[in-house]
Amino acid sequence: MNIIMSVTEMQAFSDACRKQGKTIAFVPTMGYLHQGHAHLMQEGRKLGDILIVSIFVNPTQFGPGEDFEKYPRDWDRDAQLCASAGVDVIFAPTAEEMYPQGYQTSITVSQVSQNLCGVSRPTHFQGVATVVAKLFSCTKPHVALFGEKDFQQLAVIKRMVRDLNVDVRIIGVPTVREQDGLAMSSRNTYLNADERRSALSLSRGLARARELFQQGERSALVLIGTVREIIEKETCATVDYIQVCDIETLQDIDVISQPAVMALAVKIGKARLIDNIVLKEE
Ligand code: AMP
Repeated sequence: MNIIMSVTEMQAFSDACRKQGKTIAFVPTMGYLHQGHAHLMQEGRKLGDILIVSIFVNPTQFGPGEDFEKYPRDWDRDAQLCASAGVDVIFAPTAEEMYPQGYQTSITVSQVSQNLCGVSRPTHFQGVATVVAKLFSCTKPHVALFGEKDFQQLAVIKRMVRDLNVDVRIIGVPTVREQDGLAMSSRNTYLNADERRSALSLSRGLARARELFQQGERSALVLIGTVREIIEKETCATVDYIQVCDIETLQDIDVISQPAVMALAVKIGKARLIDNIVLKEE
């Protein structure tokens, strides 16, 4: 497994792979890897001759007062996980390498970025879209994999790729959960034992909403109310949002008559957790 930290070296490596007719699969991450990331890598391994994973805690997608400095990092464990997932290259640039002096360009995916997490994190998706576009220019992938856990991020990237004619196939991968239902996240490490128990209310609430949907409930208001009640029973949980949206535009829906995403963000202790489910006729 190669470790590359320089942009030009990364580009030269990918150019050489492409010249040899090899397909490049790419999984961008911020490290502190878990089985959710590993699953993206396994899927990427199937799709590419060469599998590149980036580990880069991108400063520009964190807002003021967010957890950039405290974001968990564990290089040795990450490198081990990548090696066992059959990763060919870890691309791990420094912030200076990605944003040298004088850097001033950014990408805004306007509408899809506004709702849901965009309300409380107004600059987040601009940071995400820009860094992903840059990482694509560095790693030159044919296919890139993203988790459905970050549903809005996936929608933003799909929209950007379409709008800017970026020649990369975007694959969404279903959320990997702990056995008890908690969506895996690097930020789960912020939770103490009590908070970890409370955090289960997110997946429990979403599971209840799915059940009601399967029984025929189509009112977003009713489904949201049910989930809110389940989560707000936990005294340490503060709901940021619970919404039902169109899966492409991410605009709010009142009555579910087409595939919809029920997405939520909840602050528990120091962690802001997100989760979602897709509601559609089976
Ligand atoms: P992050 O390191 O949190 O920026 O995530 C890197 C990639 O892994 C993103 O595409 C995430 O959506 C994806 N990811 C994170 N958690 C999970 C999970 N539990 N299941 C599937 N994919 C995930």
